[in-house]
Amino acid sequence: MDHFLYRDGALFAEDVAISEIAAAVGTPFYVYSTATLLRHFKAFDDALDGMDHLVCYAMKANSNQAVLKTLARAGAGMDVVSAGEYLRAKAAGVPGDRIVFSGVGKTASEIRLALEGGIRQFNVESEPEMAQLDAIAQSLGKVAPITIRVNPDVDAKTHAKIATGKSENKFGIPIARARDVYRLAASMPGLEVIGIDVHIGSQLTDLAPFEQAYQKVAELTELLRTDGHDIRRLDLGGGLGIPYERSNAAPPLPTDYGAMVQRTLGHLDCEIEIEPGRLIAGNAGLMVSEVIYVKSGEGRDFLIIDGAMNDLIRPAMYDAYHDIIPVIEPPVGGEQRPYDVVGPVCETGDTFAKQRMMPELSAGDLVAFRSAGAYGAVMSSEYNSRALIPEVLVNGDQFAVIRQRPTFDEMINRDIIPEWL
Ligand SMILES: *Cc1c(COP(=O)(O)O)cnc(C)c1O
Repeated sequence: MDHFLYRDGALFAEDVAISEIAAAVGTPFYVYSTATLLRHFKAFDDALDGMDHLVCYAMKANSNQAVLKTLARAGAGMDVVSAGEYLRAKAAGVPGDRIVFSGVGKTASEIRLALEGGIRQFNVESEPEMAQLDAIAQSLGKVAPITIRVNPDVDAKTHAKIATGKSENKFGIPIARARDVYRLAASMPGLEVIGIDVHIGSQLTDLAPFEQAYQKVAELTELLRTDGHDIRRLDLGGGLGIPYERSNAAPPLPTDYGAMVQRTLGHLDCEIEIEPGRLIAGNAGLMVSEVIYVKSGEGRDFLIIDGAMNDLIRPAMYDAYHDIIPVIEPPVGGEQRPYDVVGPVCETGDTFAKQRMMPELSAGDLVAFRSAGAYGAVMSSEYNSRALIPEVLVNGDQFAVIRQRPTFDEMINRDIIPEWL
């Protein structure tokens, strides 16, 4: 459930009319709902009730400082994958002992930054990274808490570009080699082995792959304990999917997920960490755009809108589906017609939907892309020299711009002309 509903024939974000925000900031823009963000965070937090746990929001999904601060105040930890994300988490007031550092290519300077600033744990992904971390920690007179990310070789049954838990993916170490790698880690004085990490992919709509992976983690926990390692924390990654297409069967809820975690791992008495990103931010955001032209083509009509692939790349990158709804509520049972919804960018890939049934729309009408709060603004670019679009946060009857649209001068002046020109 989210907080984007029609009221008296017009789309609202909580208690604010979308048209009011559009008039204030111009289109296109992203708008996020505080109540939805908090609701989703709480759903995960409650789902793990009864187990010692921390929900670490995977901030790569949406790392606006206002979003981070909203979640941090509710008690979220953060999962970060770069120095920039680490510093964003710190700037939002998240203490180091609630930040976990994931990622397959942490650089020496990123490792140093996190060791000096404080970190809950590094999720280590390879032996060379382990050696690097050990050396840096020793040189700083510190001991780095680590889990090792294992690759359980399960098929997450999701889009190939966001599956991470098969042996051919670049992530983690093969689970079959885990005992050797843990032995090596335990011999390094700069490291303290505290647990196991696993993350098998994103937008999973079935619990079975998670359960398979977690069963393997449970077996590994017992083996590693037999080997003398004090395994006391299990980081289970993120990946639970959201219903992008309202007509499809709904993916499992956080409560189902939580019950499955209790069932497969509860007996081990470990602290549980999870790293949801999409499920917290995805349905908490819309991208709102205006129709520029309706163009009649050969046997099809194009809805040309002012938002484009540089603003929301998911359809072009993952063939992703987004519900696109008019901001003025169409009459129930009203007539619909098929449109190809496209942006102005000079690429055929700049197509959001083909032959999508929608009520008749005209130039100047506003449309909203649902489920655009995750992997939307964070993946945007200035391709075609289109300015990054603003982000707005709604809280009850208030709204605030939380990232401004840059001016064209700001955009152009970021480039530097060498002195010989
Ligand atoms: C991307 C990622 C997540 C979040 O995935 P979602 O599908 O957004 O929940 C969590 N952990 C790691 C290691 C990731 O790479």
